[in-house]
Amino acid sequence: MQFHIITIFPEWFRSPLSTSLLQKAQDKDILSFYVHDLRDYAPGKHRGTDDAPYGGGWGMVMTPEPLVNAIEAVSLPLTNPRRVFLSPQGQPLSQQKAAEFAAQESLVLVCGRYEGVDERALAFVDEQISIGDYIVSGGEVAALVLIDAVARLVPGVVGRQESIEDESFSTGLLEYPQYTRPEEFRGLRVPDILLSGHHGNILRWRRRQALFRTQQRRPDLLKKANLSLEEKQWLAQNPYEEK
Ligand code: SAH
Repeated sequence: MQFHIITIFPEWFRSPLSTSLLQKAQDKDILSFYVHDLRDYAPGKHRGTDDAPYGGGWGMVMTPEPLVNAIEAVSLPLTNPRRVFLSPQGQPLSQQKAAEFAAQESLVLVCGRYEGVDERALAFVDEQISIGDYIVSGGEVAALVLIDAVARLVPGVVGRQESIEDESFSTGLLEYPQYTRPEEFRGLRVPDILLSGHHGNILRWRRRQALFRTQQRRPDLLKKANLSLEEKQWLAQNPYEEK
């Protein structure tokens, strides 16, 4: 899968894309990243990419020409590229959305800066995606969040597929609590059941914990989850819920 990033700060991506899972995925030829400097697509000697807003107001706005030149030039050799602008006004990024992107051959990610981009440039992307209801200074950090969430769903990027399938949101629930060595830490013990070696009981315990945890922390997710009758009964007797 190819990721193309259009940005005025190409250097932003150097370390994150060459560390850990993302570097390994490139070594294995599963993923490739291409960072395009928006200034290369800006006309004129000064290669400007922003200007003052029409109608007045504070700050600068990215001009449409370099953005559209870059989007078109980068997309041209790609088959079915999905062109995404990172924006607080976009659809929220979700695990489901990430899975949808992971099935694409190529993504073109466009990073805004300053006060945002000229509205007309947005006619040249397929969609807008937000990483949450807050403002960050540029699309770069948002693009990295999207890249990471998508990359780990591309087969072969994460060592074992099971480690993805169990994770928070994949099942529609938050993940169960995890423990590792030592068995006792500052007087806090690992739950006995995890040391019992009884696989069936452990699975059941984990499922119950995932349900209880989701009920407590994210009841909105539970409403959408597909639960068995037994699971609904567990929830009705949730020992952790404050009554
Ligand atoms: N004035 C704009 C925000 C500009 S922030 C507005 O109110 O909508 C500058 C850039 O950072 C944006 O163009 C976008 O590319 C990026 N950005 C900021 N917050 C974001 C978010 N929550 N999700 C995705 N991108 C974001």
